[in-house]
Amino acid sequence: MPVGAAPTRYRVNPVTDNPNNSAGEVALVGAGPGDPELLTLKAWRLIRSAEVVLYDRLVSAEIMALIPDTAEKIHVGKQRSNHTLPQDQINQRLVDLARQGRRVVRLKGGDPFIFGRGGEEIETLAGAGVRFQVVPGITAASGCAAYAGIPLTHRDYAQSVRFITGHLKNDTCDLPWKDFVQNNQTLVFYMGLVGLPIICRELIANGMSDDMPVALVSRGTTPEQEVITGTLQNIVERVNQQGAQAPTLVIIGQVVSLRDRLDWIGAGR
Ligand code: SAH
Repeated sequence: MPVGAAPTRYRVNPVTDNPNNSAGEVALVGAGPGDPELLTLKAWRLIRSAEVVLYDRLVSAEIMALIPDTAEKIHVGKQRSNHTLPQDQINQRLVDLARQGRRVVRLKGGDPFIFGRGGEEIETLAGAGVRFQVVPGITAASGCAAYAGIPLTHRDYAQSVRFITGHLKNDTCDLPWKDFVQNNQTLVFYMGLVGLPIICRELIANGMSDDMPVALVSRGTTPEQEVITGTLQNIVERVNQQGAQAPTLVIIGQVVSLRDRLDWIGAGR
């Protein structure tokens, strides 16, 4: 199958999946958490046939290397509080490029619909009548958990899992902490490094045991992956001592203790 051609058995968009079509289009593509082998085949195919790629900081260098030399690469952010392009300008840029008749890939770390503002970007496209498609990616929670040997659910320990943003607004996380303190539930905080002391403090204040296991996964699924484990009581101190490079993901719950036996990456070292 040629790189640009879509298989027909699966759900395809007759316009955006036709490499010979001259109408502009945008594919909002999830690049996964870092390991290029975690890309979907669809993401790979669309990246390989892109004419313009708008990408942000979380997309790994190995995945960037898959973009054809002929494609224009546009960096659009985002670092904490340092958006290279404000969101509304990214949205408008996507519309403008597609209207020039180009095959645009908007490449985002993880899954575009999980803390990725993918919804905002395609709302603008939909409003402007630009054709688009969305390609899911492996979200950081799945990637980091798998590569750290921490099953997010487990019949003995967790029947549910919550994905939560730990991003601070005005130095505080305005979150329904009481709801998070439940038995048999795993909590996953995205963007939780700066707010980690607040997260631990609030969970303990709302009744979670201070020896609840916690893992902080840094640069998950990449060769630089580091995992720091501890409890709600001591994780902040351990992270301060050992240091952690962004991006980091925080996993809280009994399932974290399974890592002692299931850390398949560490076991192979
Ligand atoms: N759409 C992305 C999340 C974007 S929000 C997804 O589905 O994964 C950015 C946050 O994702 C980071 O602050 C961090 O908490 C998390 N993250 C993304 N990639 C990561 C990685 N490789 N390792 C650890 N955390 C990661």
